[in-house]
Amino acid sequence: MSEAVSSGVAAVFLDRDGTLIVDKGYLRDPAEIELLPGVVERLRRIQARGYLLVMVTNQSGIGRGYFTEEDLQAQHARLRLLLAEAGVVLAAMEHCPHQPEDRCSCRKPKPGLLLRAAERHGIDLARSYMVGDKPSDVDAGAAAGCKTVLIADDPIEEGQKLADHIASSAAAALDWVLEETESIVGT
Ligand SMILES: [Mg+2]
Repeated sequence: MSEAVSSGVAAVFLDRDGTLIVDKGYLRDPAEIELLPGVVERLRRIQARGYLLVMVTNQSGIGRGYFTEEDLQAQHARLRLLLAEAGVVLAAMEHCPHQPEDRCSCRKPKPGLLLRAAERHGIDLARSYMVGDKPSDVDAGAAAGCKTVLIADDPIEEGQKLADHIASSAAAALDWVLEETESIVGT
């Protein structure tokens, strides 16, 4: 074993709505969960390179009373199942239940969800990536010290943000991560 051991494992942090699954607003029914095209194949390849996959999602629908923590857990159980059927395992699913006015430290653009997962799983943030479809995802990833990729329909407008890369779809964003990374599994 080499000095790489001390630096922890690297991760790819993934937003949920608009990144892993189709954004349906304040989704409530687990049956509405629909994976975005091309995502699982790419996640499988990233995972095979030794990266942890960690979902980080703002779910203020809980704080707003649109659905409950139990509803969210039911959604995430179904999401885990759909991913598992494709051979993809999330190391963690972190969510923020708060509303903006709660001024918590976990709602993106704050980096709290990423920092919490990093502490629990020994993640080296400087070698990690954040993938999301909102500037707040990019801001959270950058604040945590990760490289960032933004999924955006309008790259000219969104390109003003500090993302390391802009991609036109979730699949294209993960292709960029695959271009950037090599296997970190022992050879
Ligand atoms: Mg999103």
